[in-house]
Amino acid sequence: MSFVITTPLYYVNDKPHLGSIYTTIICDAIARYKRLMGEQVIFITGVDEHGLKIQRKANENSIDPQIHCNQISNIFTENWMDWDITYDKFIRTSSKHHETVVNEFYGRVKKSDDIYMGVQKGWYCVGCEEFKDNPENSSTYKCPIHQKNLEWRNEENLFFRLSKYQSQIEEIINNPTFIQPKERRNEIINFVSKGLKDFSISRTNVAWGISVPGLDKHTFYVWFDALLGYVSALSLDEKEDSLNKAINGGWPANIHLIGKDILRFHAVYWPAMLISAGLELPKKVLGHGFLTREGQKMGKSLGNVLDPKLLLSKYGRDPVRWFLIKDISLGNDGDFQNKRFVDIINNDLANTIGNLLNRTSSMSRKWFKNKVPNDVKTTENNELASLSKITVDRYINNFNAYKLDLASSDILNFAINTNLYLNDKQPWILIKQDSNIPYVKEIIYNVLESTRIIGLLLLPILPELSAKIDVQLGCIYKKESPWQGQLKWGLLNQDSELPNPFPIINKLEYE
Ligand SMILES: [Zn+2]
Repeated sequence: MSFVITTPLYYVNDKPHLGSIYTTIICDAIARYKRLMGEQVIFITGVDEHGLKIQRKANENSIDPQIHCNQISNIFTENWMDWDITYDKFIRTSSKHHETVVNEFYGRVKKSDDIYMGVQKGWYCVGCEEFKDNPENSSTYKCPIHQKNLEWRNEENLFFRLSKYQSQIEEIINNPTFIQPKERRNEIINFVSKGLKDFSISRTNVAWGISVPGLDKHTFYVWFDALLGYVSALSLDEKEDSLNKAINGGWPANIHLIGKDILRFHAVYWPAMLISAGLELPKKVLGHGFLTREGQKMGKSLGNVLDPKLLLSKYGRDPVRWFLIKDISLGNDGDFQNKRFVDIINNDLANTIGNLLNRTSSMSRKWFKNKVPNDVKTTENNELASLSKITVDRYINNFNAYKLDLASSDILNFAINTNLYLNDKQPWILIKQDSNIPYVKEIIYNVLESTRIIGLLLLPILPELSAKIDVQLGCIYKKESPWQGQLKWGLLNQDSELPNPFPIINKLEYE
């Protein structure tokens, strides 16, 4: 059984923004972690390419929608390369492959008698690609997300019988592990309790979409087709395009990580569609919060959008990852503040973890001929060994519960306590007496060994920093399974060479 994790399929109306980087980095950390734990992982990302918004955008630029999509899709894959994202599948919903799976899926839903022709009247936000429930003063009402007027729609559409699944959806969302966090789950429970209405799954005024088989003017509603990208991605590498191949490729997903704004589609519409087509449900939908900047909502009109490319070129991958993973509790909103960012990187990574490694490896080199001390009894009966064990256990529990911020703090606290241990033992005073040398060796070995474990635990979160720590400690792990058996205490090779120290992380300056 594979562990399947998905980012949302990003809408190609624009290049990736910090929010998409955030979601993708979190998924990347989880995927790396699961692989390190020995699981077979399928990490899916991709782009959602259809819909009126894209059609209009391409028209504005006088290009073919497909060419527009190709351009933006390339920008996404380039970005994921720049950020070293270890995805396994990149699905494009404008691909022939995807279309085949959508058509087959639609056939199944139709067979379940869940499709009928009706008339869709209502106020529509093209930005959201969503009908809004009877807003007051509808003609002047602006979508709060897009600040744009709604458009009136009165057209024949195909409908999906969502109302039929009322009690089944209630049962699904009552399972506390299905939607996280709790607050998001309560919002959905509240929404569903008002009664589910059938929703339209086709459009007659949108050419840029997948044609509904047998219905000339109709294309599928963008959400109906896009959600299926999670399934069609699973058979991307198969020669034959078919829904069954996709299902056998690893469905159901273990976790859909999404922004809270698209939770309703994933936690209500999607499960109903899957039941209708006879597919299993995803195990979990995790809705993360929004990012603000210096306490303010980011927006083009406000001119305060933080460009992730700039962030990357200025600070590099690991500092940005550390901030996004450690400072934001997954599910809550997060705020990017430059001063806080600089402080966290300097305190946590440079002053605590970097400094711990540097001072200890320098002492060891100076006192023990550029080597890790030898003749040390690696007993687990010392405070750092027991702290290491507690840290590893906590970290694994937190990671398994998708509490990545707490898992990061577990590493940091271990580093803080190791620094305290060193300050408390004061080996630089003890070393002055020859009779203390065996004890000094033990102290230095313990601290170096703690640092080795800190480096390993950092691997899914900060892969580059982790690798630098390994290099500096002279550790070489099996590339495919660096964690296997390695999180135990006392494995740092005694008497091995310690390479010349180099700064593993640069201190940042305020803007
Ligand atoms: Zn909107």
